[in-house]
Amino acid sequence: MSKFFSDRFAALTPYTPGEQPQERTYIKLNTNESPFPPSPAVVSAVAQEAKRLQLYSDPESTTVTDALAARYHVKREQVLVGNGSDELLNFAFMAYCDETHPALFADITYGFYPVFAEINHLPYIEVPLREDLSLDPEDYTSLNGTVFIANPNAPTGLALSRAVIEEMLKIRQDRIHVIDEAYVDFGAESVLPLVDRYDNLLVIQTFSKSRSMAGARLGFAIGRPELIRDLNTLKYSTNPYNVNRMTSAAGVAALQEDDYYAGNAAVIQENRAWTMGALRKLGFEVTDSMSNFLFARSDRINGDALYRSLKERGILVRHFDRPRISDYVRVTVGTRDQMEAFILKTTEILQEVAE
Ligand code: PMP
Repeated sequence: MSKFFSDRFAALTPYTPGEQPQERTYIKLNTNESPFPPSPAVVSAVAQEAKRLQLYSDPESTTVTDALAARYHVKREQVLVGNGSDELLNFAFMAYCDETHPALFADITYGFYPVFAEINHLPYIEVPLREDLSLDPEDYTSLNGTVFIANPNAPTGLALSRAVIEEMLKIRQDRIHVIDEAYVDFGAESVLPLVDRYDNLLVIQTFSKSRSMAGARLGFAIGRPELIRDLNTLKYSTNPYNVNRMTSAAGVAALQEDDYYAGNAAVIQENRAWTMGALRKLGFEVTDSMSNFLFARSDRINGDALYRSLKERGILVRHFDRPRISDYVRVTVGTRDQMEAFILKTTEILQEVAE
């Protein structure tokens, strides 16, 4: 830190992204990316749009916003696109939390939530998950604040049903619930069908996972028009051109390829089931993940040791040195070949530690 760095941020601990090694080709199962490339139509849309890079992007991101509105059966005024869903989550923290409305989120969830709270100097309460890492909605009923729920949750993969979230919306109509559905396309239930009925619901999704566009940075928020207007106030006060031309073009093209992406999501779900079975056979405890990653622990090796041993063998997974979950590793579900390699190496490692 330089001597000039503002005191306002002196205590800020930034988010730690998963490793993106540039030197060696790992089997990368650490950042929940898709193992599948974007569709060819997306690639050519990006190339076409690159010819117009001398022009600023459309501040309203009209084409991709309209395509999203059509895809999800809402009005244009109900959609805001962002530079990844991270940007929109940050806007939601800024918009809906303050001294009297702390952010409420699980003690084990997306690691960026506390960082969004801290950078904006917002109070927050980490609400402990149950012993089995599931979320008890009743824990939130009597707390005051703005609720943030990753559904499915990260890194556990556990999901709440739409009915459970609807109950939360009904019980506390006086506050906003931000539902982060980054991983919803891998088998969980989206609450998007509720946005017209509840003015206290904001849904945030991303193209990074099921639509193979993590490197393009495209997320979207859907809610009632008033909520989207709030977020726009913050967007136009931060970065009016938040989504670049190529990313918008990629998003429009991706929305025309639903079958391709749904097919890929189905393959991920098959590979998830196969890997879950194989891990359980090896004695791992594995959560019932509804996402594109698995969360597993073994009583034969701790999470950090497994992470390191896999890395030495060319496989990257994620380990969180955090209370309650340091025994676990989080493993992105990739292709069947990748998952077979992961299981093979894990089996070898367990044999070695048993010797
Ligand atoms: N929410 C959750 C729960 C995530 O795990 C991630 C991915 N790191 C994001 C949001 C952000 O995704 P992106 O900014 O790539 O849309």
